[in-house]
Amino acid sequence: MADRPANCGGLAEAPFEARDRVRVLLPLPLPAALDYRVSPGETAPEPGRFVRVTLGPRQLIGVVWQGEPDELAAERLKPITEVLPAPPLPAELCHFIDRVAAYTLSPPGMVLSMAMRSEAALLPPTPRRVCAITAAGTVALAESPPSKRLTPGRRRVLEALRDRPAASIAETARAVGVGAAVVRGLIAAGLVAEHLAPAVLPRIEHPDWKTAGPVLSPAQAKAARRLVERVETSGFHVTVLDGVTGSGKTETYFAAIAMALARGKQVLVLLPEIALSAQWLERFRRRFGANPVEWHSDIGQTQRRDAWRAVADGRARVVVGARSALFLPFPELGLIVVDEEHDLSYKQEDGVCYQARDMAVLRASLAEVPIVLVSATPSLETVVNASRGRYERVHLPERHGVATLPAVSLIDMRKERLAPGRFLSPPLVAAVTETLETGEQALLFLNRRGYAPLTLCRACGHRFQCPNCTAWLVEHRFTGRLLCHHCGYSVNVPPFCPECLAAGTLVPCGPGVERLSEEVAERFPAARTALMVSDALPGPRAAAELAEAMAEHRYDVLIGTQIVAKGHHFPMLTLVGVVDADLGLGGGDLRAAERTFQLLHQVGGRAGRVERPGRVLIQTYMPEHPVMQALAGGERDRFLEAEAAQRRAAHLPPFARMAALIVSGNDAESADFAARALARAAPHVPDVTVLGPAPAPLAILRGRHRRRLLVQAERSVNLQAVLREWLAKVRFAGSVRLQVDIDPYSFL
Ligand code: ADP
Ligand code: ZN
Repeated sequence: MADRPANCGGLAEAPFEARDRVRVLLPLPLPAALDYRVSPGETAPEPGRFVRVTLGPRQLIGVVWQGEPDELAAERLKPITEVLPAPPLPAELCHFIDRVAAYTLSPPGMVLSMAMRSEAALLPPTPRRVCAITAAGTVALAESPPSKRLTPGRRRVLEALRDRPAASIAETARAVGVGAAVVRGLIAAGLVAEHLAPAVLPRIEHPDWKTAGPVLSPAQAKAARRLVERVETSGFHVTVLDGVTGSGKTETYFAAIAMALARGKQVLVLLPEIALSAQWLERFRRRFGANPVEWHSDIGQTQRRDAWRAVADGRARVVVGARSALFLPFPELGLIVVDEEHDLSYKQEDGVCYQARDMAVLRASLAEVPIVLVSATPSLETVVNASRGRYERVHLPERHGVATLPAVSLIDMRKERLAPGRFLSPPLVAAVTETLETGEQALLFLNRRGYAPLTLCRACGHRFQCPNCTAWLVEHRFTGRLLCHHCGYSVNVPPFCPECLAAGTLVPCGPGVERLSEEVAERFPAARTALMVSDALPGPRAAAELAEAMAEHRYDVLIGTQIVAKGHHFPMLTLVGVVDADLGLGGGDLRAAERTFQLLHQVGGRAGRVERPGRVLIQTYMPEHPVMQALAGGERDRFLEAEAAQRRAAHLPPFARMAALIVSGNDAESADFAARALARAAPHVPDVTVLGPAPAPLAILRGRHRRRLLVQAERSVNLQAVLREWLAKVRFAGSVRLQVDIDPYSFL
């Protein structure tokens, strides 16, 4: 409280007017923006400006916000310490932040913090210390006969500084191949001087919209024209680009990007798991002759700072990013593309729970720009919006060129005899053999990391469970550890059972990709196999290299989890085997069927993308299940209709609204107590049903005991208003926390 800047002391008595105070939103979980004082004589900073202010003992950066000031007495207000030189947040983004906060019931400051991921970007670029040759240095260099003061190393440094652009001591020394001490010696001798030079902003390549893309097929051209027209006329509009895998959706929306660039607009492309999208980046580079600016969790601090600045000052023309890129400060946004719009990774489940695809539509509407939602398996939400006429649907029904869609068949696992510890059925083995004999590639898909999902003791039945979560530990044989996939807890695989102390009795149950790769190695010893799974690859580059090796046919069989399903284009891949198609259907998730269909359709879509026809074999214990029938019959639309009818009948999204309220505490009692209190305060409002409390499916997660209430409401209900009123009545004590998830996806 004591650190008010000296220049503001003694001014507290001056009379205040409304313009003498501004609202400042801080990136903290506070309920609202706070008032701060503008020093007399200064003009109030505009909304959107970044300012430094004091909060308690801390100096923080916040944003001047629109809104009604508090009632707080003027003399109790703290002053704005500093107005930062960074470009202000666009009004449209501030509005977006408010709307996201209201929709998700999150503190607006927490949403703002997503738009302030790089504090360094808000500060002026720091000047660099560089060295230059002095007049005395030039003279010394020119002396004839050569001056004895100049050793060969010193002479090389002076020559370098004479001929090349200014550089730091270290850079200069490195360029010449001497130690930094040599350069320092020259500075001491007055032959070189150091001075401050303005920071150089990193060069951002400009994508060239004029380079021609491939010649589009008539269907692609028609679709592209629709997208391009929307960009030309601008204004908010949602188009669903719905095309089968390999139909050229990417080429088609590239045309819309080119138009946005031609009109001098910025473009945002959202991709799921951008870190794994090396092939997309490569295609973009080939088409536009430049790299887009990347924004995702794998970029470092410096890259993040540079990217944020480049977006804010308009140097970045195309940004490709994960969901958080939605909060970047585009001043000239002209188009948003959400690729694989159905993808689950668009849903953020912690902190601010939001669905990035839906919020992208909101941002497009506030920015009054068109948005394209792209998928081969659009989400039911999107399909329903299209059928209601809110979204326009543009369809690409065929694969590009001579490629055809793969033939899908089911393998009824109830009829197959498999030896214990084996997971590939005879028909699938035969198909892999055949594929390898014809010199083609196969992909085996199993959406389960590790060696085995459960380890138990044959002698006493002991199962290895995570101490922090309601979950089994998964054996990872490469690392020799048992790992919790929810909290990351891990232990070495013990040499004997911790319960009965018997040795050699621990057995793996069920398959993970590591175990599957053992079986493949045994069955197809001559095949070159690779395992594509996030935890076996050290980073995005390794994933990209593996995908490239596969595309170049340096492998015959690829085994992988869902990271193989997305976007990859492997020309020689003609067989996809789904090892356990039923995996995603368990559990109480209302979207389980939809999601399984999307994932398996997507992974099947990797087969036969060029001339050679592909096939997909699906191992399932539930061949009659509508998902399996739809996959085998290629009847996506019929499946979606049936799925929609069921959801409508059950009053589930997208035909109703839903929210999850998750109460968590350090122990079961406090969680139960708080959940019951919350339930007692539940509103009695028509068309709103409150279910629970019940233990969340993962009742204990990261050591926290969780109880869940589900709120179901008709679409006519303002669910947020109901929740806000309800939650205002409840106070939680101690360790108890409440998380609100509007439109929850995974019911962990
Ligand atoms: P999708 O995004 O629908 O899966 P892509 O855009 O990835 O489809 O296209 C599939 C493959 O076909 C890619 O290798 C792409 O380069 C190629 N392709 C698509 N359209 C064309 C075209 N008009 N001319 C040449 N190649 C094309
Ligand atoms: Zn755990």
